[in-house]
Amino acid sequence: MLESEENSESDVPNASDNPKAEVENPCSLCEEEIPIEPLNRVNGRPLCPLCFSQIQDTYLKQKPVLTDIFKGLVGGLVGAFVSGIIWALIVIWTGYEIGYLATGVGFIAGVGVVMTSKGKRGPLMQLTSATCALLGLLLAKYVIFGHFFIDQANQELSTQLSYFSPFVLSQFPLFLPKMFSPFDALWILLALIAALKMTEQQKLVFETL
Ligand SMILES: [Zn+2]
Repeated sequence: MLESEENSESDVPNASDNPKAEVENPCSLCEEEIPIEPLNRVNGRPLCPLCFSQIQDTYLKQKPVLTDIFKGLVGGLVGAFVSGIIWALIVIWTGYEIGYLATGVGFIAGVGVVMTSKGKRGPLMQLTSATCALLGLLLAKYVIFGHFFIDQANQELSTQLSYFSPFVLSQFPLFLPKMFSPFDALWILLALIAALKMTEQQKLVFETL
């Protein structure tokens, strides 16, 4: 340290006897000084060997194996179904289809996938969370449809239908296209984006120079 201060006072930059020449920029994360060789970079930012190996380790652990996809699927479906039913109940209780809440179904599907797969991310986990989000929204539509359909059928036809009646289930595909508004396309898109974002793996480029 003393030597470098003397050098800076003399205003003569001399790389050969300046100890600062032995180090590159400080580590982007912990600000420790980094030895000039080997120089580790992530996305062009210099990192000390410890931070570099920790990030590399975390990054590699995000890659899923087959069992991670199944685990993620379970969490994603639970999240999407619970939030989908809550959204449907809000629609039924308020009488308004608060479409933007559907975005939450995508978000919670993504959270579920990441949680039960212990932090796995990437295209396969994105496919999983998007599928869960769509199924959650479909279930929500079924709950909304079923509520009104069952009410009306039971009153007018004196039937005892429930959500699990084969007749109600068989009518759902016929009514589904009629239940879609152009706004639904937007909410579905936003829900998918939320699900994809939650399970996206940040692109990292590792370099050792
Ligand atoms: Zn560091």
